[in-house]
Amino acid sequence: MVTQSEAPRTMHIGVPHIEQHGERVRLIADIDLGGGDIRPLWAEVDTCYGQYLCSERSDAFLIGLLHYAMCNHYDVVCEAPVTAEILLRLRTILIPALVHNSRVMHETQIEAPIATEPIPNAGAVGTGLSCGVDSLHAVKSLLACPIPGFSLTHLCNFDVGAFWRPEKSDENATRQAQWSRNHAKDCAKAIGLPLLTLDSNLVALFRQNHGIVNLYSNLFAILALQHLWSAYFVASLGYGMAGFSVVDAERIDSAHYDLLLLDCCSTSTLHLCVEAAALTRMEKIRDLVDWPLAQQFLHVCHRFVGPNCGACQKCLTTQIILDALGKLDAFGQAFDVAQYQAHRKRNLRWCYEQTLSPVGDCGMTVAAYALLKAEIPWWIRGGGAHTLLGASLLSCVFPESGAPTATQGFRALAPSSHW
Ligand SMILES: [Zn+2]
Repeated sequence: MVTQSEAPRTMHIGVPHIEQHGERVRLIADIDLGGGDIRPLWAEVDTCYGQYLCSERSDAFLIGLLHYAMCNHYDVVCEAPVTAEILLRLRTILIPALVHNSRVMHETQIEAPIATEPIPNAGAVGTGLSCGVDSLHAVKSLLACPIPGFSLTHLCNFDVGAFWRPEKSDENATRQAQWSRNHAKDCAKAIGLPLLTLDSNLVALFRQNHGIVNLYSNLFAILALQHLWSAYFVASLGYGMAGFSVVDAERIDSAHYDLLLLDCCSTSTLHLCVEAAALTRMEKIRDLVDWPLAQQFLHVCHRFVGPNCGACQKCLTTQIILDALGKLDAFGQAFDVAQYQAHRKRNLRWCYEQTLSPVGDCGMTVAAYALLKAEIPWWIRGGGAHTLLGASLLSCVFPESGAPTATQGFRALAPSSHW
């Protein structure tokens, strides 16, 4: 990251164009970072969707790279026009909001021709399908949406960096992305809607933390297809309204300000919406537990290629919540329930310990503990010196032979009384 005191550099976004690439079609623009560093950034879709790629605007490339530009002290020059509404909101709302609440982000200046003509589109309504909690909640909700013009027509699987991690090889990330895509294809088939897949070299060209820039990367994919969408719903990541923030945007998940960012990127013909902005992850799980497609396809694990591992933080947290709701048995196709039950005592102890230092799970373990608290004795909850004593005594409270089953005990805790 470049310091504020240095003179800004200039990023030139070339005029986008469309190329056939085997069975797929690419929207490409050269990104010139100066000094001969020119990177051809592309988004690729099946040929049947090529007609919907938007090559007459710079919108997708500008938004996709905006966080990178602000964190690396770039001003941006776009050779192709930027949609007027987007440019106005970036200049007057988003960029000032981020800069005023960050000590390191650069107030990126944008120079571009301005386009005022609306972009015609095919009237499609889309949302992503990763098969995680947020994604499935969005799909379930939108399938039942009674508002005319907002009926879901397409499910999407964008490979724009979700599986890339600094510690992983590109090959591993590719395998995981492919498994996830195949799983999404099976789910989309069961739902009965087409799955639009989009690939990009965005993360390969511009190494960024997807946990921070995920919304910018998804908007790159969405805006690349501006001739398709009249509306697109991005699933909230479960922070809830209380989690809205633009403070230190260089290092927080961009989903913390999804309402602002999507509003800034909407146009007169494209409505970008946050699905379930006010709900927490826990509340979303509550809404999903009785949906057969969620019971079959829920996939929360990012640890390995393949089905839910059952042991990572996301898998454990989700299983514990399902357990607390008395619904774990219904998710036997998504999780190894027998494995969870065999180690249930340890899992409950882990849940309690997580509440002492909750990190990165949208407060899910805290919420799960709120449901489980009645089953965990007071000396376990005490913390401090009591914690060690309590943890050691937990096995006495929940001996394997007497441990409650997944469907016992917690059912008495009606979810509605705890949300
Ligand atoms: Zn896992």
